[in-house]
Amino acid sequence: MHARRTKQRETIIKVLRSTTCHPTVDWIYNEVRKEIPNISLGTVYRNLKLLRESREILEIDLSGTFSRFDGNSDNHYHFRCDKCGRVFDIDEPVNKELDERVARKTGFEISHHRLEFRGLCQECQKAAE
Ligand SMILES: [Zn+2]
Ligand SMILES: [Zn+2]
Repeated sequence: MHARRTKQRETIIKVLRSTTCHPTVDWIYNEVRKEIPNISLGTVYRNLKLLRESREILEIDLSGTFSRFDGNSDNHYHFRCDKCGRVFDIDEPVNKELDERVARKTGFEISHHRLEFRGLCQECQKAAE
């Protein structure tokens, strides 16, 4: 049983790390089923939750849409296109000074911050021309 659980989890991680598209659960489920045809959607959900809790993956909460998942668990910034809804990684270092500044100002214990840039991706800009 344990070995099977491990294989499911490893397959989910592999699928997630094979893409930069920040997929939804449905996308992950379809990809994982190519390797483990009898896996259930509930099992995929359960494993994603465990992987998130052990900080091996990130769950990106985008208000008003389905959760998306990220195989890169290091904190990093995202851009979300307002038109097509795609989510991109932003190659910009995370500003840790901001955490310290806000912690000093508020007395809160800050573990991290999330930043999501919004606007139009290159393709949607071209389509609008
Ligand atoms: Zn777009
Ligand atoms: Zn990302």
